[in-house]
Amino acid sequence: MSNQNPFKIAQRQLDEAAEKLGLDNATHELLRWPQREFHVTLPVKMDDGTTKIFHGFRVQYNSALGPTKGGLRWCPEETIDTVRALAAWMTWKCALIDVPLGGSKGGVICNPLEMSEGEKERLARAYIRAIGPYLGVHKDVPAPDVFTTPQIMAWMMDEYEAVMHESHPGVITGKPLLLGGSEGRMDATGRGGIYTVREACKALGFDPTGKFAVQGFGNVGSFAALLHADILGGGKMVGVSDITGGVYNQAGIDPKEMAEHVRKTGGVKGFLKGTPKTNEEILELDIDILYPAAIENVITKENAAKIKAKIVCEMANGPTTPEADIILHEKGVHVIPDILANAGGVTVSYFEQVQNTYNYYWSLGDVQKQLDDKMTTAYGKVYEMHKEKRVHMRMAAYMVAVARVAEAVKLRGWVS
Ligand code: NAD
Repeated sequence: MSNQNPFKIAQRQLDEAAEKLGLDNATHELLRWPQREFHVTLPVKMDDGTTKIFHGFRVQYNSALGPTKGGLRWCPEETIDTVRALAAWMTWKCALIDVPLGGSKGGVICNPLEMSEGEKERLARAYIRAIGPYLGVHKDVPAPDVFTTPQIMAWMMDEYEAVMHESHPGVITGKPLLLGGSEGRMDATGRGGIYTVREACKALGFDPTGKFAVQGFGNVGSFAALLHADILGGGKMVGVSDITGGVYNQAGIDPKEMAEHVRKTGGVKGFLKGTPKTNEEILELDIDILYPAAIENVITKENAAKIKAKIVCEMANGPTTPEADIILHEKGVHVIPDILANAGGVTVSYFEQVQNTYNYYWSLGDVQKQLDDKMTTAYGKVYEMHKEKRVHMRMAAYMVAVARVAEAVKLRGWVS
């Protein structure tokens, strides 16, 4: 794994797209930086009677296309620059998937695995007391991300409503169903990614029913593994890993059995029907499709040449460094970039906001159909740009997205 600053990577990606699009200097410079960001210090009473001070962030990157939207991560390694990068990627993702939203992200430096439910609830409420005035369905809407859950979203919505003395279910998405969540949100990111793999296979004339591997078996990776064969009509998972380690089996690993093993033991390690492999080895397996679904910067200039998959579907945010991108492109690997591959989550979050606003809820079938339409259309636009401008798929996705945000900036008169 590389330690490159993710915000510098995000800026470099934008710079390249801006150059290819011929963006004027002012628009380019505006899009290189967050519009606004909040740094908050949160005192939280711990179960042992002490008070612990947590540090949190919210970055509202760009609201030209609409109110900002983005997840909230609770991670020990969080920094303002990871949050800035993720907020920039949310901006491009919302533009690419064509929903009327800008991009944002939040983070708190903490380790929720070491916190009780009570401590997590007090932290969630403290965050909303600090950031709440700057949130709202017409301002900025958080959602779950790494180590945050529907329960945490429910506490946050409750705190917001308690302060506002009004019902505001649309202030946050990824809520439990009973409190205004949407059908189909749990598997939306994994499902959306598989739809893009289906479209890639159609475009490339490639059989999707071969071997695949998944790095990260959390919310996104586990659903990608579980839905792959269902949506694509076949396929065999031969490798899978998470923070505890990896497992390989040439004959195939049943995603349902793996999900049960992870539920019982807390990780992939120790699964008996296969041989142990490291995370690095899982990425380099002889497979057709690779799903990096864990963390940033795992495909780097050191290992990119060893990737054998023909399609890399980036379920995680930022799994490939810019140097690795070029190597993969030159090798002829078809990369479905993160801002496209994992846009299913924010798409169904947007559907959740829409349902909250008109207070009428869709069936699971309706959600999945609308999600499929959005992912298929976005993949088509990116593939078209990739072919027409002869740029790799990530650059094509950036060009589609950045052009839309830049046009909104101009229409609003922010830059003449
Ligand atoms: P999660 O916490 O549910 O799962 C993360 C998985 O990655 C776990 O299996 C964990 O063990 C594994 N992991 C963590 N560190 C690792 C390491 N160093 N090496 C190998 N594996 C490691 O999180 P998630 O919601 O599934 O998110 C995964 C990725 O997808 C993140 O990059 C996230 O930003 C991105 N993403 C998530 C959503 C969503 O809807 N949840 C939407 C878009 C993008």
